[in-house]
Amino acid sequence: MEIPCCPNPKCTHFHNPDKDSWYVKYGTYRSRAFGTVHRYRCKACGMTFSSQTFSIDYYAKKRISYVRLLQHLNSASGLGDISRFFNLRVETLENRLERVARVGLAIEAALEKHLPCTENMTADGFETFSYSQYYPCHVNTFVGSDSEYVYTMGFSNLRRKGRMTSKQKARRTELENQGKASPSAIQKSFRICTDKILQLVKSKEVSASFEKNILYTDEHKAYPLAFRKLNGFEEAFDHVQISSKKPRTVYNNLFPSNYFHRFLRMDLSDHTRETLQWAKCPSALMARMEAFRFAYNCFNPRRVKASRAGDWTTHAEAAGIPRVVLADTINEFWGKRPFLGKTNLSEDEVKTWTCQWTNPGRSVGRRIPNYIFL
Ligand SMILES: [Zn+2]
Repeated sequence: MEIPCCPNPKCTHFHNPDKDSWYVKYGTYRSRAFGTVHRYRCKACGMTFSSQTFSIDYYAKKRISYVRLLQHLNSASGLGDISRFFNLRVETLENRLERVARVGLAIEAALEKHLPCTENMTADGFETFSYSQYYPCHVNTFVGSDSEYVYTMGFSNLRRKGRMTSKQKARRTELENQGKASPSAIQKSFRICTDKILQLVKSKEVSASFEKNILYTDEHKAYPLAFRKLNGFEEAFDHVQISSKKPRTVYNNLFPSNYFHRFLRMDLSDHTRETLQWAKCPSALMARMEAFRFAYNCFNPRRVKASRAGDWTTHAEAAGIPRVVLADTINEFWGKRPFLGKTNLSEDEVKTWTCQWTNPGRSVGRRIPNYIFL
């Protein structure tokens, strides 16, 4: 494996490693899973590292096929089924799933500079829950109107609503005494996601030919409040709200969101309507969501019917990324360890990357490895 950079984010060789050798060989060690591993030392900061430092399997004890993992994750298999298939503990599998999610996030971030961003978009919250029905949430999705490319995703905890027995109401009060979902959570996440889209659109702006796009949403009251606080929103977007009661057909401008959400229900066991299986915690939920978004954008055909006739145009290509750029970008990152310090992400995406999403009043509940913050 090539040595791309010094793994120390404070070192000059982290972002700009010299062409000439900035590191020296520093011995070897034996690992049961990976054989002889070479060690190196950075000449500038003195940090030692090995070829494994840059592998997706950094700190892992066993090799698995991430391609097969991605296929299983996105074909409605539960983590229990997949762990039996790979002969791994569920906790180990979750760790691997999070690795794939981070690679996916890094690839999506690298693709951004190739996105023309000239299409309208739809933004909507996908309602689901993790741990128990007392912890509902929205996964906020921003989808291209023409390409159905998923540009970004965010997360908001919600308060349990709807019909409840008196016993359930008492239980909710009990849990809410430990922690309560913020009433402005949707607004906050929408602001973060929309700001990311705005920065992206602004970075493409060619002053003379720049035209305003439309951002379609349903009539949720939090959305206009979120957009109002954003600098430059009105110059970039017209906000059009559509009643959720309108028929959900292809002619509905919210169709791109509805279409993506339908796949989430079909292909991700976390969100099947039967609720036989669900996510254990919001961080696991979002990691699996990101792994799905990556596959949906970069591998899945835009239209299943067209793919049967041989047209395997992906959502990424439909959004304007040339096929060769898509393939090169995936190759550049696949199998490698991505660095947070080199990846341009929104605040919500950083929380997904670093597994910081929790339910109100609950802790992360496990040790988060330090290296994923680098
Ligand atoms: Zn260094």
